[in-house]
Amino acid sequence: MDLGIRGKTALVCGASQGLGRACADALAAEGVNLVLLARTPSTLEKAADDIRERYGASVVTVSCDITTVQGRRDAVAACDKPDILITNSGGPPTGDFRGFSLDDWRKAVNDSMLAPLELIRMTVDGMMTRGFGRIINITSWAVKAPLDGYSLSTGPRLGLTGFSGNVARSVAAGNVTVNNLLPGVFDTERTKSLLGAQARQLGITVKELVKRQGQTIPANRLGNPAEFGAACAFLCSAYAGYITGQNLLMDGGRYPGIF
Ligand code: NAP
Repeated sequence: MDLGIRGKTALVCGASQGLGRACADALAAEGVNLVLLARTPSTLEKAADDIRERYGASVVTVSCDITTVQGRRDAVAACDKPDILITNSGGPPTGDFRGFSLDDWRKAVNDSMLAPLELIRMTVDGMMTRGFGRIINITSWAVKAPLDGYSLSTGPRLGLTGFSGNVARSVAAGNVTVNNLLPGVFDTERTKSLLGAQARQLGITVKELVKRQGQTIPANRLGNPAEFGAACAFLCSAYAGYITGQNLLMDGGRYPGIF
């Protein structure tokens, strides 16, 4: 299926690996021009080269920290007319809330709520003027199901979720949509590092822990980032203009509720 977005331009944050990279791949496969950003130039350039080679896509890179004011300025300077915005970064640390300082909370709110909010503010009016916009925030299943040790993720991301719900309604008439994608457990570098730490604590191998995790998921496996990218590309498509203000949970059926 041709998603009808060939020639559009996407600003993809946190794009050198993992879920952001998967979104970049899926958009490139649809003929979307990409502006990719991440902090580490070497891995970012490697991802960009790989995407150019695989899809023949036009790819510009911006090495910056999206959680800083300057980083966001650099990103928008490199992509001043995005049709598609994917907000994403590395995610906050896990742990018991008793161990988190006020500064830890400020950082988490800045990284997981204010940074995406600011990027939306800086780009959404241009999308309205041009009559097309697709904004996707990569959040987390922790928004729907409070998880032990994930308080720094749940709180700030719920703030972003509330904001996106509001802004989605205010821009819908301009063919601009705002949706959140909520990953469950996907097979990415971040997941490997989180599972690695957990496996060490339990005294088992990562392979064994992945198997145990899989058994708690009805799909009986971790998510494949390509599946995530495909869902993202569809929500960015010309055909998804009537889907807005939504939170799409992708967790292999792990969340136990009907809705
Ligand atoms: P990942 O594999 O660690 O990839 C993160 C990407 O973001 C990298 O390209 C990284 O490159 C970039 N990045 C990190 N901090 C950044 C910053 N401040 N500015 C710009 N780029 C930044 O992570 P992932 O697994 O894809 O997860 C992506 C998001 O989804 C995270 O917020 C995570 O908490 C959330 N999530 C993931 C899962 C999952 O199963 N994977 C589940 C729930 C929620 P640099 O380090 O070079 O900047």
